[in-house]
Amino acid sequence: MGIKSFARKRAIHLMLVYTGGCNGCDIEIVNSVLSPRFDAEQYKVFLTWNPREADVLVVTGPVTALNRKPLEAIYEAIPDPKIVIAAGSCALMGGVYKNIHGDIPSEEIEGPVDQIIPVDAKVPGCAVRPQDVLSGLVSILPKLLDSD
Ligand code: SF4
Repeated sequence: MGIKSFARKRAIHLMLVYTGGCNGCDIEIVNSVLSPRFDAEQYKVFLTWNPREADVLVVTGPVTALNRKPLEAIYEAIPDPKIVIAAGSCALMGGVYKNIHGDIPSEEIEGPVDQIIPVDAKVPGCAVRPQDVLSGLVSILPKLLDSD
């Protein structure tokens, strides 16, 4: 077992990145998933704002042109192996940011997330349900623990 897998058996660090949505998904994740109500810490999942410390990147929002480079920089700063979860319909397919033709306006929106960085798990919803985020998170833990 590699040293990272050994450390991950004690703690998984999750970083949340907003890429231009309405913040509804971020509120559900920070105020519910990571709060004592849904208590992600019971699975040894802790929040970090430092990409060098992160194992899991959770991305919300459609990835606006302004947010593309910061998202790529954060993704690159997270040490391998890493896991990415796209959370919410904006992150998965543009959500409410699609135009009336059902297209994503490419001059403003450069997502969805899987067009920018590799995505390992997708959590639908507008906003996401805390239990779905937790379920997506728990589903990728074995992959993370066996990854090195
Ligand atoms: S999926 Fe819905 S709640 Fe989440 S950021 Fe987009 S518009 Fe907001």
